[in-house]
Amino acid sequence: MPPRSSNRFRDALSSAEQLFKGPQSLAFLPAIALAAFWLGGELVLLGVALGLPLLVFLTGGFAARRKPAPPPQRQIEILSQDDAGNLAEQALLRAKAANLATACVLVEAEGLDQIARQHGERMAECARDALQTRLRGLSRKDDQCLRVGDSRFMVLLSPSLRLDLESLLQMCDRLQRGLEEPLTVNTATLYVSVSFGFCGSNRLKENASGPQLVEAAQAALTEALANGPSAVRAWTDSMRVARTARASLIGEVEKALVNGQIQPWFQPQICTSTGRITGVEALARWIHPDKGIVPPAQFLRVLEEAGQMDRLSEVILQHSLTALRSWDQSGIDVPRVSINCSNAELRNPRLTERIKWELDRFGLTSQRLGIEVLETVIADSPDGIIARNIGQLSELGCFVDLDDFGTGHASITALRRFTVHRLKIDRSFVTRIDRSEEQRRMLAAVLSLADRLELETLAEGVESVGEHALLAQLGCDHVQGFGIARPMPGDQLVEWSRDHDSRMAEARQISGKTR
Ligand code: C2E
Ligand code: CA
Ligand code: CA
Repeated sequence: MPPRSSNRFRDALSSAEQLFKGPQSLAFLPAIALAAFWLGGELVLLGVALGLPLLVFLTGGFAARRKPAPPPQRQIEILSQDDAGNLAEQALLRAKAANLATACVLVEAEGLDQIARQHGERMAECARDALQTRLRGLSRKDDQCLRVGDSRFMVLLSPSLRLDLESLLQMCDRLQRGLEEPLTVNTATLYVSVSFGFCGSNRLKENASGPQLVEAAQAALTEALANGPSAVRAWTDSMRVARTARASLIGEVEKALVNGQIQPWFQPQICTSTGRITGVEALARWIHPDKGIVPPAQFLRVLEEAGQMDRLSEVILQHSLTALRSWDQSGIDVPRVSINCSNAELRNPRLTERIKWELDRFGLTSQRLGIEVLETVIADSPDGIIARNIGQLSELGCFVDLDDFGTGHASITALRRFTVHRLKIDRSFVTRIDRSEEQRRMLAAVLSLADRLELETLAEGVESVGEHALLAQLGCDHVQGFGIARPMPGDQLVEWSRDHDSRMAEARQISGKTR
């Protein structure tokens, strides 16, 4: 730490600099000139009067008039896929010439997104730099360590005799332990986990190319990331088959989005005190020509990987608003349709604008649309774009549901800040409440928390009449689940709603007679 006096000197210097910076410093000229005349007579006065403006000018005193120079742009060197392939090709050639082996090791740092969200992008960039420096330090002198993605690094090993599976696994283990040591950036301690995918040149055919070596390591890394955090995977031939199948699935799902095979089915939500439909949830389904009805679990991840979640939400929104308008025309009362918004969609700065535009286009008010946001999403994003989007949608008049409540550890402060209207209590809290005392106590605690926070409640996954009845008794406002209705195509909802109305009318008659 520098001595205090030197700090004071620097402070004084910077105050002087501030004083003489800009044309405002000339405001002191008359006072300085008077002092000079008093101390040194006319000659000194003349010198000061002419010299000071010149000095101010020469020392950059007029800098404030000039446009300040932009801060230097940091050049982040991220290697392209082609360049990575070329470097791997050279590494292969070097190894072959020496009758030795090489390997491509890919390292993905996990948790940098969270650091960026919590501490800002600059901090995340510092963490990336620190990781790259550590990786260099942990590698051998002749190994090449390069950055190949936002949070991805590649190590091309220098030619070596022993690069069998065992030694490569040991090496990854050593690198992992070194990289996962807590990072200290400024005063913050940051935790990052790293996953590895690697391929040794002796695992590939004799004439395999550099790009093929990199692709093999990428396939291994994909597998590691699917099993992570902190996973290590070596390339195997079966990965190539899985990778080809995945690539063709991505193409197929993207086509399905365009040609209308992906659309929402709707599951009713019921008020526990009146029994009326208070809304429906839109749940994506792929109406596959050969496979039949494909549930979202089988295609959401692929869409996410392909960066197509925004497109999915556009499609679901349009179908949902079309359905809402057609239910209005059929005379059934569906007050609201709710759509699920993923983390990626909630990061879109144009989300509110797009939703508003669609509502206007369909001539529907914003109160008719609900947005379901996962509790994990708000728990992981203390502020920034997601909070802004949710706030704006709520201001617009859309209803905000906190989905899977109880599974994501959102703080009470987050619940307040994110302008949520209703807690959708996760199925794990609801199932068997009519049979388990402990389950009932947990649910009662969640309901009382919601009550204190003045939030409405909806219980998901209600499968039995017993659960439904108990939820009504405990004061849960709404219910949704297979016990009421399974998700169904939009046109079937008209018939279901009419049947439901007549069942309710019958029930009212019976209870009227028995009273
Ligand atoms: P979620 O939002 O929690 O939706 C509820 C899931 O539980 C749905 O599964 C629904 O069919 C199912 N479910 C409803 N009632 C019951 C019940 O009584 N018992 C049981 N066992 N299950 C019940 P689904 O349709 O397979 O959707 C799974 C998840 O996929 C959804 O969970 C949601 O997170 C996601 N998802 C679905 N559609 C979309 C979409 O359009 N966009 C986004 N971003 N995510 C979607
Ligand atoms: Ca949902
Ligand atoms: Ca849910």
